[in-house]
Amino acid sequence: MEEDATGVVMPRVDSSQCIECKACERICPALNAPAYNMPRAAYAAWSTDHEIRRTAASGGIASAINKYVESVAGFSIGAALDDDFKVKIEPCNAKNIDAVRNSKYSFSDSQDIYPFLRRALKEGRFVAVVGLPCQIAGYRKYLGDHDNVVYVDLVCHGVTPNSYLRQHIKSLESQLKIDAYGLSFRAPEKGTANYFFTLYGRDGDILYSKRSVDGEKYNLAFHRSYSYRENCYHCHYARRERCSDLTIGDYHGLGQLKTCSFSDENVSMILANTPKGEVLVSQLAQKGLIEIHPRPIEEPIKGDLQLQRPTPKPRERFDFEKYIVKYNGDFEATIDKVLALRDNRERVAFLKGLPRRVARKIFNVLKAR
Ligand SMILES: Cc1cc2nc3c(=O)[nH]c(=O)nc-3n(C[C@H](O)[C@H](O)[C@H](O)COP(=O)(O)OP(=O)(O)OC[C@H]3O[C@@H](n4cnc5c(N)ncnc54)[C@H](O)[C@@H]3O)c2cc1C
Repeated sequence: MEEDATGVVMPRVDSSQCIECKACERICPALNAPAYNMPRAAYAAWSTDHEIRRTAASGGIASAINKYVESVAGFSIGAALDDDFKVKIEPCNAKNIDAVRNSKYSFSDSQDIYPFLRRALKEGRFVAVVGLPCQIAGYRKYLGDHDNVVYVDLVCHGVTPNSYLRQHIKSLESQLKIDAYGLSFRAPEKGTANYFFTLYGRDGDILYSKRSVDGEKYNLAFHRSYSYRENCYHCHYARRERCSDLTIGDYHGLGQLKTCSFSDENVSMILANTPKGEVLVSQLAQKGLIEIHPRPIEEPIKGDLQLQRPTPKPRERFDFEKYIVKYNGDFEATIDKVLALRDNRERVAFLKGLPRRVARKIFNVLKAR
């Protein structure tokens, strides 16, 4: 896997070493789509552990799965940030279980995890594979539909190349004269539903914390879909049919198809897509790790566009594509240019519409007389 000139990690075949066995092509989920499963049941759910729920991206279901797997001496995986703010998929254990919690809105590197997964299955352990839908499709092609493995995908609207994140943190460090030791994309101190991009110092003190609406540029590029990898805009897995046993996400649209007696704060959405997925949900509930409330299947699907189709490209994405190449992968220069172009367009549109708005106002005043 190699980073190209614009910071995007892509596979490259080294033709001097290739024996042309085509194993990589056979296993590639982009070339050979995995089988899909239709959701069979939907739940609103959350972890019964208050601290997990407070610090989790939504209801802490992924964390509950990791905890359950640990209790049965199984094996699970998760995404953690390293000291350089790269996101790596790692085996979960008591040491990193907190670090794995909460969303990392960046491309996560999963290339080292494959041999661990295969070994755990060979040892006869129960394996819970949690990841983004495209990663799950890859893991499933590699491991197959083994009795001991359960696949859990996260609803996903796209990932930003990790190089943009590292550049952005470096730029903030130099502007604000700080040294960042930690990062949260959904800081628990501010309520994870408020999406504060937050940098922490060595002692966990907050050094910087901003939302997109306050001008946080990495957040803005991510949440407004300007900066994803190109494949995310053509995602095969953003659909109601799932390539996993369970799908988890934030619960968008809660209460829209059936009345509901609780708020949507720190509530996860679960879709059980196979009997194996349904068994895992009931095991988590029976062990008291999560609270579940059955919901109509259509409710979360209607509530989240990512369960219907890939993210469409906004106008600013086309600017981003052009300038990230022109500026040789410089994220900060590119996002500044994209925002300047956007602001300019908005100003022009405002001025163009001004005479019509003034005329309408005068007309309304005269009509009211
Ligand atoms: C890039 C991205 C985009 C998302 N888009 C949407 C969306 O459009 N709609 C929606 O409803 N939900 C989306 N989610 C899912 C949502 O943010 C939560 O991750 C999900 O609700 C699970 O919450 P939780 O409280 O159960 O997880 P927690 O208990 O907080 O655990 C977080 C889980 O997410 C995994 N994870 C975090 N970051 C990554 C990453 N970069 N790569 C692989 N795994 C990761 C961790 O390993 C862990 O298993 C997205 C998540 C990511 C990472």
